[in-house]
Amino acid sequence: MSEYIVSARKYRPMTFDTVVGQSSIATTLKNAIHTGKLAHAYLFCGPRGVGKTTCARIFAKTINCLHPREDGEACNECESCRAFNEQRSLNIHELDAASNNSVDDIRNLIDQVRIPPQIGKYKVFIIDEVHMLSTAAFNAFLKTLEEPPAHAIFILATTEKHKILPTILSRCQIYDFQRMTITDIVRHLTHVAEQEGYTCEPAALNIIAQKADGGMRDALSIFDQVVSYTGGNITYQQVIENLNVLDYDYYFRLIDFLLEKKISESLLLYNEVLSKGFEGGPFISGLASHLRDLLVSRDAQTTQLLEVSEDIRQRYAQQAQRCKPQWLYRAIRLCNDCDQAYRTSRNKRLQVELTLIEAAQATDDDPGAGRRPARHILKPISATWQQLPRRLLLLPPRFNSHPFSPPQKRLRFPTMMREAESLHPHQPSLKHLSSEILLLPSEQEKLLHHLLKHLLLRAPLPLQVRRPTMSQMRHL
Ligand SMILES: [Zn+2]
Repeated sequence: MSEYIVSARKYRPMTFDTVVGQSSIATTLKNAIHTGKLAHAYLFCGPRGVGKTTCARIFAKTINCLHPREDGEACNECESCRAFNEQRSLNIHELDAASNNSVDDIRNLIDQVRIPPQIGKYKVFIIDEVHMLSTAAFNAFLKTLEEPPAHAIFILATTEKHKILPTILSRCQIYDFQRMTITDIVRHLTHVAEQEGYTCEPAALNIIAQKADGGMRDALSIFDQVVSYTGGNITYQQVIENLNVLDYDYYFRLIDFLLEKKISESLLLYNEVLSKGFEGGPFISGLASHLRDLLVSRDAQTTQLLEVSEDIRQRYAQQAQRCKPQWLYRAIRLCNDCDQAYRTSRNKRLQVELTLIEAAQATDDDPGAGRRPARHILKPISATWQQLPRRLLLLPPRFNSHPFSPPQKRLRFPTMMREAESLHPHQPSLKHLSSEILLLPSEQEKLLHHLLKHLLLRAPLPLQVRRPTMSQMRHL
């Protein structure tokens, strides 16, 4: 049985032309080699897994190639190229500064720099994660970086450019590597799948690419993981199960409910999502991304910003036709507000539920659409709390039991609230009341949440209401 090699290594590009997603950098480097304008130090910046080390290795191989090709690529056949490809070349030194960041490590490296190469013209020193070097190591290195021997070329790589000292920056040619697009990653994964004889659904590869967040190495390791799980027949359903990704379908269904103002169905769907083990935070940011994707699907000019597979693209286009832009703006803003408040909220579930309720109630002709609710609607917290018992006191006599006077008194709150609202049409509507609840101290919040939930779900359940303590009353 042949040795198993992970895809990230097996399909590591061997030439500049096969580097994925960094074509402009690859071309620039190739041209520099072709015209013989080589710098002594390069700084490769960019997120992890986007090809910094790969480009550095190809660069080292190409400048040492004994018979470079017409187009500026390495021949991959000469003794030097073979040594590089078999990872036994003495002209390349890699130092991982994350684990070797002391002065001694740098001194060892400097000793190596002095020795000229045996075959080929240059020795290339790749220092990965160079921002991790200690200050003393940096200083020890600076002199060598300033006046290196003619045969030495340094390639410094970092994910955190802002941590590099200006003295280093000014001595390097700087290349900024871009995060890879989903299209780039999907194309490469498709290529790997074809080579390996796997079958895969485009939507499945798209999910892998999204999960990798712009890094090819991550994409390929996730791909390997999925392959071992599915046995080479990669379907969308298996990928979302394996990677614990929420199915697009939930968002499409949710938007349908919201557009039809089906609050109960929306809340039940959210409950289903939670029961599958997903968290509210990622759910709401996923909903925001879905709304954003609907927004860009509405316009032929912006559809290119949609990074999904073809079949899902059509679903977006269909659903987008049913959404008014004003409503989308409003809903995106609601999700955004929820996302910000989510981390600090004591009742995270309610936070998401209220957002869904508000999104379902938001109308497209709302004059405040796209903006925050007008200021006067958001009454101070204490005012709301004071108003609530007062409202209840003003109810007809048959309800005239103050909800907070006898402890443990049972109420039929839905009926009372409806009555109260009909008596006082100018009260802030339930929607606005709901956004204030999030700001209330915990006891009151719990109570109001309870009342509101039953009211919204139109569940005629009796409620137990506790009297606020004296200290809470004083607080009001
Ligand atoms: Zn060669």
